[in-house]
Amino acid sequence: MTEAAALAVEDLVAGYGQVTVLEAVTLAARPGTITAVLGANGAGKTTLLRTISGLVRPRQGQILVDGTNLARRRPEDITRAGVAHVPEGQGVITELTIEENLRLGGLTRRGGAARTAALSDAYQRFPLLAERKRRQAGTLSGGERQILVIARALMAAPRVLLLDEPSLGLAPRMVTQVMDLVRRLRDDTGLTVLLVEQNARSALAIADRGLVLNLGKVVAADDATTLSADVALRRHYLGF
Ligand code: ATP
Repeated sequence: MTEAAALAVEDLVAGYGQVTVLEAVTLAARPGTITAVLGANGAGKTTLLRTISGLVRPRQGQILVDGTNLARRRPEDITRAGVAHVPEGQGVITELTIEENLRLGGLTRRGGAARTAALSDAYQRFPLLAERKRRQAGTLSGGERQILVIARALMAAPRVLLLDEPSLGLAPRMVTQVMDLVRRLRDDTGLTVLLVEQNARSALAIADRGLVLNLGKVVAADDATTLSADVALRRHYLGF
């Protein structure tokens, strides 16, 4: 599994100061798959994404992207190696236009031609953003902002996308739209996605695999359908 993985994490230990949050976390995600990362509040899901993207320095372990170990590299190097991170909270820059927000996502690309092509791809994929490109991002709804931050991350042409709670605070209809978008990205572009979600049911519905964390340890890792069918696991860790 590890050899063919687009993203593999091996025995990852990380935390904040004296506190250890991730205790030897291991996972492997094949190219073009969605892995749902699930677990209760404080399980370490956000810390896992922050460690993969270089914002938290691991104490131990490996983070392999297409076989290259990126552990302890700088966040900008990890971005250049093909990993894009969309943190929790729809972090658009509200005073900038939609187009300016998108352009920020392309800054790591070398050459104006690549950036222009990425922008036109974004507008093709997201007509809603094309129609409103000159408007301030602050005029978008929560769901539209979530789409904008995902579109902004795609401007860097990542191979691996780390998505932290994209459904947080969204109305049910928008949750469905965002999940459909993630599924389409996998199907159309072959992107490998790590999807952190509190909404385990929605995440497992689109995921290929799932990983359940509890107090920084992996308590289950399996096909999404197998995890969804596990009544005890659902009751203890997944809340549905
Ligand atoms: P949530 O769904 O609530 O975001 P999570 O599974 O993403 O939960 P993390 O945010 O990774 O969990 O937090 C894991 C643990 O690390 C928690 O106990 C949290 O209090 C602690 N923690 C998170 N960020 C920091 C920080 N900057 N400094 C110290 N401890 C932190």
